[in-house]
Amino acid sequence: MVIRYDVGLDENMSTLDPKLIRALEDKYGPFWWPEDMYPKGLSSDPFRRIIITVLSQNTSEVNCIRAYKGLAAKFEITPEALARADQEELKEAIRSGGLYNVKSKRIKQLSKVVLEKFGGALKPVLSLPKEEAKEKLMELPGIGNKTADVLLTDTYSYREVIPIDTHYDRLAKRLGLVKQNAKYDEIQKALINFIPKENRDRVAGLLWLLAKHTCRAQNPKCYECPINLLCAYEKKTMPRSK
Ligand code: SF4
Repeated sequence: MVIRYDVGLDENMSTLDPKLIRALEDKYGPFWWPEDMYPKGLSSDPFRRIIITVLSQNTSEVNCIRAYKGLAAKFEITPEALARADQEELKEAIRSGGLYNVKSKRIKQLSKVVLEKFGGALKPVLSLPKEEAKEKLMELPGIGNKTADVLLTDTYSYREVIPIDTHYDRLAKRLGLVKQNAKYDEIQKALINFIPKENRDRVAGLLWLLAKHTCRAQNPKCYECPINLLCAYEKKTMPRSK
């Protein structure tokens, strides 16, 4: 059975209505991550966040955190310590996260460049104007739009920066907020405009959970999606009764 959260709204609305935000909250609030899931000190230290982002590539959240804890048990998570770390020991420390050969090399290289370019300190870079900070972060090896934006959320929050990953990319395209061939910046702008500014941090998180749990890459569960009323993909694939 298709559940439609038809709350008397205009199907062509360009921003999310508070009633739909409440429906998202009801459905995805319980999926929210517990505060203690992440290692201590992670959110306040941009270098640690870069390292966990490298560890998160092509693996699950659980394995990524396991690898990070393995690394933290063996090394201080600082550019100095990781730049001089023994490659084999690095590999062993992060083995549980998968792709440990590639990731250990990447971590070492990144640490060296953070030392050389920024004297080991990323916080001053993050306090630069947004575009300038992003440009500088993207000079680091392996740091693309998404990782740079993850770091920028520390300064600017999700109110101004939404790091576009595969989930947001899929959701924005299916909703019809952007065309199928839209690029990173376009998708980010469209999502920012779609989510009302108040509570944008929280609502961006709810939309990410929707994409992960409901708007799945294969077999999206449109029949239970809280925003199916607005969705271009759903309109194409699920004929409506008159
Ligand atoms: S209606 Fe379907 S395709 Fe559209 S956002 Fe919801 S789950 Fe995704």
